[in-house]
Amino acid sequence: NRRFLLARRPVGTPVPEDFHLVQEEIPAPPPGGFVIRNHFASLDPAQRGWMDDAPSYMPPIPLGQPVRATTVGVVYASDNPDFRPGQWVMGMNALEDYSVSAPGGFTMPIDVSTVDSPSRYLSAMGAVGLTGYFGLLEVAKPQPGETLLVSGAAGAVGSVVGQIGKIAGLRTVGIAGGAEKCRRLIEDYGFDAAIDYKGKTVEALAAEIRTVIPDGANIIFENVGGDVMDAELLNLARKARIVLCGLISEYNAPEKIGIRNLWQVLAQEATVYGYLIMDFAPRFAEAGAVMAEWMAQGRLRVDEDLQHGLENTYDAFMRLFTGANTGKLVLQIA
Ligand code: NDP
Repeated sequence: NRRFLLARRPVGTPVPEDFHLVQEEIPAPPPGGFVIRNHFASLDPAQRGWMDDAPSYMPPIPLGQPVRATTVGVVYASDNPDFRPGQWVMGMNALEDYSVSAPGGFTMPIDVSTVDSPSRYLSAMGAVGLTGYFGLLEVAKPQPGETLLVSGAAGAVGSVVGQIGKIAGLRTVGIAGGAEKCRRLIEDYGFDAAIDYKGKTVEALAAEIRTVIPDGANIIFENVGGDVMDAELLNLARKARIVLCGLISEYNAPEKIGIRNLWQVLAQEATVYGYLIMDFAPRFAEAGAVMAEWMAQGRLRVDEDLQHGLENTYDAFMRLFTGANTGKLVLQIA
């Protein structure tokens, strides 16, 4: 059982020495629990936050323990009649070949007969795809004809938000890094306009957004924070709603960057929603079915960036922070 352990807490950008890949015995199922052979693991920006010892919505990953991750796999050995060996499951486990699910842990059975790959339960029908779904439809509550501005728009969450925005009848503007990602925003994900944030000051980016949406954004779906968000805040429509989904530009910053244009929230009487997908976990099956239908109809495209091998976890994980990932980043383990 290879396990990717957190050896020490990263300071700023993680380095390989912050982790250890170790080999241990395959565990036995605990009373009432089971052991999962992990096939795919989700690599998420949030894992960087869990590596820090700071107050959050989850406890920090303990040092010397494997890095927490959502995985999809098959029950390997079981002492639980509801989870027989061979059953495919998805749950909060770790970056390791085999994970133990004790009674009370979060693991649910999944039906892989309806999907082209079980990894879909980490992308379109997993927490990340559904982050876009619930964040836009249930938190922002869009009205047809409104303007939606999305940061991190070419990423896993952002690309889903933009496409659901079109389904909801919105005008969609995406912000992403580089010309190639901006091309994909328009051609692959159907955004009405794309803006490259790279190498621009807050003022220059704000001015570019203003030329595209002179009346401002009714909804901002925020994945990035920092300078990008500061530029967006200078382009709020009155009573705008801001879904604060992520702040990836700060995750590796040794000092938090913060927001300088917060005044705009007041000036435009905007509302900021702190948002966590896990609140919507009881509704994953319902929303996953809608996502699957949209994909079958060709209205929703969900790309996966599939990387291979636990031994490549560090390099794969860092793709999230260099912007190398081209879709939902997934590590194939088995
Ligand atoms: P992505 O697929 O979007 O990958 C991350 C992308 O972020 C990169 O490709 C890169 O795109 C961009 N990025 C990285 N570093 C920076 C930086 N310093 N400044 C600007 N952009 C940067 O990841 P996800 O879709 O999984 O996650 C997107 C966001 O959603 C994250 O903030 C994450 O924490 C959040 N999230 C929140 C959840 C919740 O419940 N609230 C649940 C799931 C995700 P580019 O090339 O365009 O720079």
